[in-house]
Amino acid sequence: MAEYICPVCRQKIPRDLTVFLNHANQHIIQAVKKEHPDWVEKDGLCPKCTEYYERAKKGEEFSFRRKR
Ligand SMILES: [Zn+2]
Repeated sequence: MAEYICPVCRQKIPRDLTVFLNHANQHIIQAVKKEHPDWVEKDGLCPKCTEYYERAKKGEEFSFRRKR
């Protein structure tokens, strides 16, 4: 099975689940790049990271590291 390693969290996921961000997700792209300067959007993200950064941009500014 083709696997993909998320460049952000290093988690292995099936390649099918890779999320590729487009222009509509520019804010997420920027947020990821802030923490991972080497990452480029064509690398993709795992769904978990996508959700994480999506939430980060919706929530308070970037008080990263989830508090909970
Ligand atoms: Zn990830």
